[in-house]
Amino acid sequence: MDSFSSSFNSFLNHFRASANSFLSQFEPLALLLAPLLTLLVARFLQSFLSVIHEKGLKATFLGFFMSFIKLIPGVKSYVDAEKQKVVDKLHSGSKSIREKWRTDLPTTGLGVGVIDEMKDEKSKDVDWQGKCSGTVYIGGSESEGHFSLINEACSMFAHTNPLHLDVFKSVARFEAEVVAMTAALLGSKEKASGGQVCGNMTSGGTESILLAVKTSRDYMKMKKGITKPEMIIAESAHSAYDKAAQYFNIKLRRVPVDKEFQADVKAIRQHINRNTILIVGSAPGFPHGIIDPIEELGKLAYSYGVCFHVDLCLGGFVLPFAHKLGYPIPSFDFTVMGVTSISVDVHKYGLAPKGTSVVLYRDHDIRKHQFVAVTEWSGGLYVSPTIAGSRPGGLIAGAWAAMMSLGQEGSKMPF
Ligand SMILES: *Cc1c(COP(=O)(O)O)cnc(C)c1O
Repeated sequence: MDSFSSSFNSFLNHFRASANSFLSQFEPLALLLAPLLTLLVARFLQSFLSVIHEKGLKATFLGFFMSFIKLIPGVKSYVDAEKQKVVDKLHSGSKSIREKWRTDLPTTGLGVGVIDEMKDEKSKDVDWQGKCSGTVYIGGSESEGHFSLINEACSMFAHTNPLHLDVFKSVARFEAEVVAMTAALLGSKEKASGGQVCGNMTSGGTESILLAVKTSRDYMKMKKGITKPEMIIAESAHSAYDKAAQYFNIKLRRVPVDKEFQADVKAIRQHINRNTILIVGSAPGFPHGIIDPIEELGKLAYSYGVCFHVDLCLGGFVLPFAHKLGYPIPSFDFTVMGVTSISVDVHKYGLAPKGTSVVLYRDHDIRKHQFVAVTEWSGGLYVSPTIAGSRPGGLIAGAWAAMMSLGQEGSKMPF
């Protein structure tokens, strides 16, 4: 061994010894954990910052505050108990009531006796007639007037299904007319609409919104190649957009409302990016009954080339009439540039039976992305316009009856 390598070896030994004596001050475990902890803290800060970026400072701190509060003994069990109550309600009543519910078909059928049992059950419901704003929209007694007219129309067509257009031509006509009459209230006959407005009946506001969102997503994929879609809505927009975002894998950006509780156009603009497919305005929104600035939102959507859905679920059968009566209502329909789709609930102020709504598009170029056509199925060619396959023709007939019996001015004929 030459003198260089022996002196190098002794240097190494010396270095090892002093390093060991330095490190022996620390627990080996701590040495292992320190970098891990640093990594965790960095991760936490990173996610905290990105949550702030996503939700805004206030919502983030509120969220952290709520998780902190839940650490206090008793609070979490209280919140859990309240949650359980809501879940119980969704299961219709407490466990003791549910235990009495039938779980098997009766061995011998009750025949018409079922009606008596149902009357008995109905008598236990809350007395809602004329008393449930936001739940039932038709006034008066359930056994007469507009109610019984709808009941008769529904039962007359209870066994029809517009999936089979060739068999049930009647309901095909009713659906087309309900859509056309609704569209006409919302500007379809004005020049500014482009004259191509089209749509379908659905089972309710939520389905209309789900379809409009899905259609916008696929339209924007075709038009701009967007594959990581995002949509921007005001905090006051209906929870159906959360549902749509979850169902259809779309990133949802909820933006706070302004001081007037209206959608904040400036804030929405700040969230638009190259993945934005859709912005939303409500006229009015369900939480506050406030109409968003539809014309400004339309301009914004048009200038960025993104879709714009106007949620007229609540206002679609109110605003057109208020406007005709001379109330100062800013434009809210297809006469507004940039509006690409509208949802409007016939089963709210259209005074139609529950389970009826309309989704409208500015033109067929957009709407065609709503349809699903399966050409290579062993059951044959299957084309279906909405989420359901078979659909209740009776409800379509009921909606047609509701609209036709009232007309624009209300009926002068006795029911
Ligand atoms: C009612 C309502 C909806 C949802 O409609 P459903 O018929 O309950 O599914 C969506 N948006 C607004 C503004 C509404 O008022």
